[in-house]
Amino acid sequence: MIVDLSQDIYEGMMVYPGHSKTVFFDHASHEETALRFEGGFSFQTKGVMFNDNGPTHVDSFSHLDPDPTAQTIDQMDLDLFYGPGICLDVSHVPAQTDITAEHLDAAEAASGLRVQPGDILLLHTGTWNRYAGQRDYLSLFPGLGTTASEWILNRGVKTFGVDSPTPDNPVSKTYPCHMMCRHAHVTHYENLANLDKVVNRRFVFAGFPLKLRGAHGGPTRAVAILED
Ligand SMILES: [Zn+2]
Repeated sequence: MIVDLSQDIYEGMMVYPGHSKTVFFDHASHEETALRFEGGFSFQTKGVMFNDNGPTHVDSFSHLDPDPTAQTIDQMDLDLFYGPGICLDVSHVPAQTDITAEHLDAAEAASGLRVQPGDILLLHTGTWNRYAGQRDYLSLFPGLGTTASEWILNRGVKTFGVDSPTPDNPVSKTYPCHMMCRHAHVTHYENLANLDKVVNRRFVFAGFPLKLRGAHGGPTRAVAILED
């Protein structure tokens, strides 16, 4: 079974405060293109504009790190975006507070599973389930504090992801999770969806970003592939 972990992309979708909004426009219509062919064929297309960190996406190292050698999304190793996945439940942690190492220990114990080195760790905050398509989606969620960020690093997690606009606490001014990612060269997915469907499960995660040359994030169709 394949579970879709991606949010819809549409005009009016919520984007992180300050990011450019998503725009769709009709480009070619069946009516117009029918004139180019004989025998009845026609096609239609849309034009789309979005922020490279707008939809469900994975951050590039260049997004997190001002070092001019930090990789843009098209330069990153595809192995970061595919592998053994696990999802833990932190949906009880209150909005605008820090998720701690203790929370992650407890979530792991409750799952009956063990986070292994090389895993892609998804954290179900419940933000998308509660607030999809609403303004509250942009501010009412918890974030990984310093101890939880160190926990992720110490456990050898390859890549991680959240179902909220950022893994940091939205009221934080220091963004300890993004700083950990900068220093340790670990990246993460933001704006995932449907994590309630994979919570406390193991699966194969696949979330390959669009190959946008020089971009600082890659919109992604992220999925979990479950054995049953
Ligand atoms: Zn990020």
